[in-house]
Amino acid sequence: MPEQISKKLGFIGAGQMAEALARGFIDKGVVKADTVHCTDPVPARREVFERFGAKSENSNVDVAKNSEVIFLAVKPQYVATVLKEIKQHLTDQHIVVSIAAGIPLAAMKDSAGDDKRLVRVMPNTPCLVGETASAMCLGGKANDADGDIVKTLFNAVGTIFKVDEKLLSAVTGLSGSGPAYVFVMIEALADGGVRAGLPRDIAQQLAAQTVLGSAKMVLDTGKHPGALKDMVTSPAGTTIAGVHELERCGARAAFINAVLAATTRADELS
Ligand code: NAD
Repeated sequence: MPEQISKKLGFIGAGQMAEALARGFIDKGVVKADTVHCTDPVPARREVFERFGAKSENSNVDVAKNSEVIFLAVKPQYVATVLKEIKQHLTDQHIVVSIAAGIPLAAMKDSAGDDKRLVRVMPNTPCLVGETASAMCLGGKANDADGDIVKTLFNAVGTIFKVDEKLLSAVTGLSGSGPAYVFVMIEALADGGVRAGLPRDIAQQLAAQTVLGSAKMVLDTGKHPGALKDMVTSPAGTTIAGVHELERCGARAAFINAVLAATTRADELS
């Protein structure tokens, strides 16, 4: 049973990411549904939250008044407006967690005031299935205990690491954009299976389950991926023939370059 958080949570913006987080926190038992508050200009989104037991409020200010940990889950262009709107109602007890991509802590401080407890989180889409790889950094008056609360919450829906804000672009380049690289890889592996004669649906499921199982082996054993690769490559066997072809095509460099290109782009955008 994961640790429980006794604080009331508020979601400003009840879209896809907010729903994934709120559902995950509740389903994993980290918070009780009736301690979760939300607001969203779209009634259908508030209704989604109500259906899993959360309370919907009429305004962003009401969410701020009724919660202690506030998630800013609006699109990045609305973060400043929302912070200015709720600024007067933020006390020194509130923790404000932004999941908006590319909005630095300095910009949050400009809008909310530099006496606020601010946290910036970079989640990724597997959050939608309870398997996020996230990173966070603390700003303003946020302290380690605030970081621990955010860590407990996100560990219920995957995993989270604390990093310096200057590394968030690298996090964006690796885990933020990473699901797309893995989707490309799964699609290509499935294409390979089809080219070799497998039906498409079987090929796709074999490819996805292979990625899932291999990732689980890395996480569960803690072994270096190279050591796990060596364990399955027998002399003059099939696997080393495939690995040789990956090396010949520069697959390793392609992944490294993809992470660097996305990191550079994240730096340009923030
Ligand atoms: P979304 O469009 O599903 O949700 C945003 C919600 O905010 C919408 O329901 C919208 O109606 C609501 N909203 C708009 N203006 C508002 C306002 N003034 N006050 C309150 N609510 C308002 O978007 P999403 O995909 O859930 O993304 C939310 C945030 O998460 C974004 O900032 C994005 O950068 C970040 N993020 C998303 C992903 C992802 O993969 N989707 C990954 C990392 C970070």
